[in-house]
Amino acid sequence: MRCPFCGAQDTKVVDSRLSGDGDQVRRRRRCVVCGERFTTYESAELNLPRVVKRDGSRVPFDGRKLRSGIMRAAEKRPISTDQIDAAVSRINRALLATGEGEVTAGRIGELVMDELRKLDQVAYVRFASVYRKFEDVAAFREEIERLEQQISPEEQRAQLDLLADLDKKP
Ligand SMILES: [Zn+2]
Repeated sequence: MRCPFCGAQDTKVVDSRLSGDGDQVRRRRRCVVCGERFTTYESAELNLPRVVKRDGSRVPFDGRKLRSGIMRAAEKRPISTDQIDAAVSRINRALLATGEGEVTAGRIGELVMDELRKLDQVAYVRFASVYRKFEDVAAFREEIERLEQQISPEEQRAQLDLLADLDKKP
């Protein structure tokens, strides 16, 4: 495995463990030349369905994009990397389980929202607000009010902060 920092060929595995519900191996590697550390993921290559975008175009499923979307929503929230890995694994499995050659981007979004809803309400609202492109603040508030019926006061406060941020925007 080539070092992504200096390009050296010689890197060492310093830690190796299962992640994402056990269907992935996460390896910490250290470059023998520059000493930088980095992480690699190993998982079985499976044929995930192609993604049908809103405009009808088809693109290969991109697990990295899925992961980064979840990470963005989870930023500064009490969600561990293990929890994110597990969510990504469950989404992959759900997609494989369809047995279909194609899946709509909308369906993937729904799967992500299902996972985030279970992990953290704020991360869920963040993702949903971008994903569903709430047409106005009223629609966004409606969604939050719907959520408030099932969450703790602490989580409610965090979401009020989120609303305050939203109001500041022009
Ligand atoms: Zn290096």
